[in-house]
Amino acid sequence: MTENTPPITITKSKFIAGCQCLKRLYLVVHEPQRGTGKTAADFVLMNQGREVGRLAQQLFPGGVSVRTGNPEEAVRLTRELLANPGIPAVFEGAFEHDRVLVRVDVLQRRKEDQWRLVEVKSASDLKEQHLEDVAFQSYVLSRSGVKLASVWLAHINREYVLTGTTVDPRQFFLFRNLTRRAQNLQPELTFRLRSQFRVLAMPKAPDLPTGPHCVNPVTCEFLNLCNPPIPNDHIGYIPRLNASAMEQLEEMGVKSSRVTPNHRSPIRTNAQSTGSVGNLFSER
Ligand code: SF4
Repeated sequence: MTENTPPITITKSKFIAGCQCLKRLYLVVHEPQRGTGKTAADFVLMNQGREVGRLAQQLFPGGVSVRTGNPEEAVRLTRELLANPGIPAVFEGAFEHDRVLVRVDVLQRRKEDQWRLVEVKSASDLKEQHLEDVAFQSYVLSRSGVKLASVWLAHINREYVLTGTTVDPRQFFLFRNLTRRAQNLQPELTFRLRSQFRVLAMPKAPDLPTGPHCVNPVTCEFLNLCNPPIPNDHIGYIPRLNASAMEQLEEMGVKSSRVTPNHRSPIRTNAQSTGSVGNLFSER
């Protein structure tokens, strides 16, 4: 980072990426071009999420949306809307604290200058990452001076059956009160954000192992980068090559079984040097 580079901000999506894997967070921020990018299915899901979000807004009549993508402008507009007692709810409000930025689906005005936070998900149940999501939002809002009366998740009611021609949002959503659980996660969030900023300041991505977390809760966009596909000429495909021979070849830096006119076969070279083909290949 140079002197003129703006400081890195952690948004909700980056934070969630970092909760899955710190290497993923690093790559998302510094080397996004190495990932697979968004698929058509991702765009469908994003559109679906927006539709569900708009439907949820019908439950808060008189609510006003913050319609700018510019973060500073969005924070300023949000502050103005919150200060206006005539506004019962704010959609997509933006808050920033200490280089951490969030946008909140719904903030509903309650008594005594308090607010109800509602995160809307186009999922049919509560998942672990939803908790991290709302806890992260509460963390930023409470540090931005917003008094939160409660924290809720609105998700799709899988029992809902469409009876007319329009969807009834009161039946379509189920609300879960996550206030206490979001509160319990606050100390852990401080720790996680500290590690995330530390990793983002590193000169290169941390060397972390792959594992089940690479496909859970979502398939990481850097899966191919961390698990490059094995080429067809890889020594692992040589028939009857035993494990110790493979190890020897790997130690010699031999990865390909291909023989070029200028090179002798690595298999033969190794066999000649050890004097035994039988050492290389499993007995049948
Ligand atoms: S593929 Fe796995 S290890 Fe690699 S960045 Fe993604 S989650 Fe992390």
